[in-house]
Amino acid sequence: MENNLPLSIGIDLGASKIVAVLIDQHGKILEEIQKPTRVHSGAEAIITRISRMIQKLSEQAPNPVEGVGVGLPGYHDLKQGIVRLAVNLNWENVPLIALLKEKIQADIPVYFQNDANVEALGEYFFGSGKDSEIMAYIGIGSGLGGGIIYQGQIISGSTTTAGEMGHISLNPEHGRICACGQRGCAETIVSGLGMVGLAQDLIRAGDHETILKDDDSLSVKAIFQAQDDGDPLAGEVMRTVSTWLGQVMSAYVGVLNPDTIVIGGGIGRSAFDRLIPEAKKELRKRTSYYSTEKLQIVRSQIQSSAIGASCLIWMNQLTSQ
Ligand SMILES: [Zn+2]
Repeated sequence: MENNLPLSIGIDLGASKIVAVLIDQHGKILEEIQKPTRVHSGAEAIITRISRMIQKLSEQAPNPVEGVGVGLPGYHDLKQGIVRLAVNLNWENVPLIALLKEKIQADIPVYFQNDANVEALGEYFFGSGKDSEIMAYIGIGSGLGGGIIYQGQIISGSTTTAGEMGHISLNPEHGRICACGQRGCAETIVSGLGMVGLAQDLIRAGDHETILKDDDSLSVKAIFQAQDDGDPLAGEVMRTVSTWLGQVMSAYVGVLNPDTIVIGGGIGRSAFDRLIPEAKKELRKRTSYYSTEKLQIVRSQIQSSAIGASCLIWMNQLTSQ
């Protein structure tokens, strides 16, 4: 059957690879291309590479492409179209939108957003947040990201960090040191790096029996396996992570009173059943019944940020209606 639905292009720009998808308005991927990012090649070269990917997908499109959306890490000035800071890409004050528009030479809208925000948006359009009125997204991967969707729109905040709970400190006095320089950020526990770091700390402290070793074999997977085998230290790691996740969720509940919290990211998806029962208990201790009466906590369904990025077109079309 011929596909006559409107099309958009979504780009996920990460530190290791760029994923570009040509996708229809129902979320069906028609084409997908991946290229290495090669951070060292610099912003201009990376943006040129992205523009070529866009051109290639546009040529393959069976009908016109309505716009391009880009998701990438960092803090952004959406009004000016500038990436203010993306540490992983080594970008500072890069005029992404102007450069990309110049290179693709097509008169179509180009949008960009923080990667966690586009992941949240993808869940709203095509995933677990479909019927949500107000949704919080928590992405647990190597780090901890977050986003908020209200009535189909991303709540960005002034520098695109609204909903980012990763660097809210839950233990500023005695917590583990975070990459951002603070102590005890939520990300220092609720993330892949956090879990491994916490396991290392506990192994060195020596208060829990464990088969885990503080060497190259220590990984999130090894911690999960040890937990399944009844390892006391792995159990303590996962309890702590769940408790902190419950605290992060309570912050969202206090501010937003969401109807849906979507748990995404590689670890969020794979460890959903390990984390959520304990996290819910913690959430219940910290919030009133009425604030969580309608809340559902669900696992994410969308695995590619590029899909979420493509939804920036549909989101902006809704706004302009
Ligand atoms: Zn931090």
